[in-house]
Amino acid sequence: MALKIKSRVLLTQCGEPIENGELIIEGGEIVAMSPVEVEAEETLDLSDHLLMPGFVNAHSHLGLTALGKKLSPAKTFASWIGDLIPLNTALSDEERMKGIRIGADEMKASGVTGLADYVADPALLESIVDLGFRSVLFLETIGFQEERAEAVAEEVEAILKAHASNCNLGIAPHAPYSVSPKLWQHLDQLAKKYGCLLSTHLAETDEEVQFIEKGGGPLVDLLKDRQAFDMNWRVPGMTPARYLKSMDVLNGMIAVHCNYIDDDMDEVQAVVFCPKSTHWFGRTHILPVRKMLDAGIQVALGTDSMASNDSLNFLEELRMADKLLPDVSHKEILTMATRFGGEILHLPCGKMESGYKADIIGFKIASPSEDWYDIPFDPKRKKVDFYMADGKF
Ligand SMILES: [Zn+2]
Repeated sequence: MALKIKSRVLLTQCGEPIENGELIIEGGEIVAMSPVEVEAEETLDLSDHLLMPGFVNAHSHLGLTALGKKLSPAKTFASWIGDLIPLNTALSDEERMKGIRIGADEMKASGVTGLADYVADPALLESIVDLGFRSVLFLETIGFQEERAEAVAEEVEAILKAHASNCNLGIAPHAPYSVSPKLWQHLDQLAKKYGCLLSTHLAETDEEVQFIEKGGGPLVDLLKDRQAFDMNWRVPGMTPARYLKSMDVLNGMIAVHCNYIDDDMDEVQAVVFCPKSTHWFGRTHILPVRKMLDAGIQVALGTDSMASNDSLNFLEELRMADKLLPDVSHKEILTMATRFGGEILHLPCGKMESGYKADIIGFKIASPSEDWYDIPFDPKRKKVDFYMADGKF
């Protein structure tokens, strides 16, 4: 049954704002847009709302939500990881699941309809799918010891086979400093074999650069302390992005963070910026978003986890992006939060166009705005006023 939705304005993310625009939704999809000539059986009058595509949270770890407020930025990134591991291990299944539900509710209330989540425990996959996001669930994979590479890859393949029918799966080699060169190759091969997307944390800190370029620093100590280092590992001696390029594993890679990327920027084509996590860590060196957008690199937005954020409210991410990126417009930040997220994740969402999924959010507006793109950035807005996922609201 077709549904007509009337709006005050549509921010389609693929053209100029359409004032008094209308949409026709059928079978969970947008089937027509203003000017609408299709008849609809039902009409939803949102003529006092700005409507736009739902946000795509392009990087999160819902399974870590229960760690909220348990961690603080440590002296080194390696010591933050060292603090995180025992706290994460100590979480009960019940606490973890409760956290996942709370995190998902917070994301939805703030307009997130699309999600890329890193999942470390395959037992959580089905529960996360059931949350109802349009999602890619990346199997987070760690293993720096070369001798374990084959066995780890076999485990990943078994998970891909077991869950591929219910979940849209991707593979996330955790980071250049936590995955052996051999495991990188195996995971790249698996991604090709199963047609999966790849994502990784890349060039997040100067400690990672020190590790990959020089083979030293706090991350080496962390791996050694945990008996996870590989004494036969050869220092790549190049930047993290060039290191992945040298192994030919960057094809279609969704690179998260990239705070320490510079003249090697062209090696990556899809990037996720996590504004509040970046701020939480007090990073002074951040992803060169303006330069990347100008170079045609798609930059999406992500919340990262509650281990490095104080909420998963996506509207707060927009506002932090605005604060951290004075040379990027509101219109561009909204494109990063919607269309670029959908495109890098190969999801049929993130813009309003015929054939795209009816994942739509709305903001009630009291008076006309000077610039429609400013509305979601209003600090008084804590949640969206309308939420539709897959045509259901
Ligand atoms: Zn992350």
